[in-house]
Amino acid sequence: MNEIVADPVLVARCGLYCGACGAYLRGRCPGCRENHKATWCKVRSCCQDNQYATCADCKVHQNPQDCRWFNNWIAKVFGFIFRSNRAACIRQIRSIGIEGHAAEMARSKRQSIKR
Ligand code: SF4
Ligand code: SF4
Repeated sequence: MNEIVADPVLVARCGLYCGACGAYLRGRCPGCRENHKATWCKVRSCCQDNQYATCADCKVHQNPQDCRWFNNWIAKVFGFIFRSNRAACIRQIRSIGIEGHAAEMARSKRQSIKR
């Protein structure tokens, strides 16, 4: 199991912190950016196509909850089950930058800000 470190490259397109995810730390997933199999994810492909690091760079939606890709039904179910607030992650990236977000998530050892 790898150690949790602060690395902005490990911030997922949707704001989650892959650097604190068990699958990443056990070497079972390369993280959102490097996971080229995650073609199903519209958030990931939208950010890639627009050359956004994350949805915090979005020029269309100030609030990502207004985006049908960011806030689809799967995201709602996962957010409820895991008490995860990805919109708060995006707000934190806008507030303290992607490096600051990575540092904060590594410090708190969390993949997501809790609801
Ligand atoms: S939901 Fe999409 S953007 Fe978020 S971590 Fe998974 S693949 Fe990446
Ligand atoms: S909020 Fe929606 S439109 Fe904006 S970058 Fe994210 S996925 Fe793309």
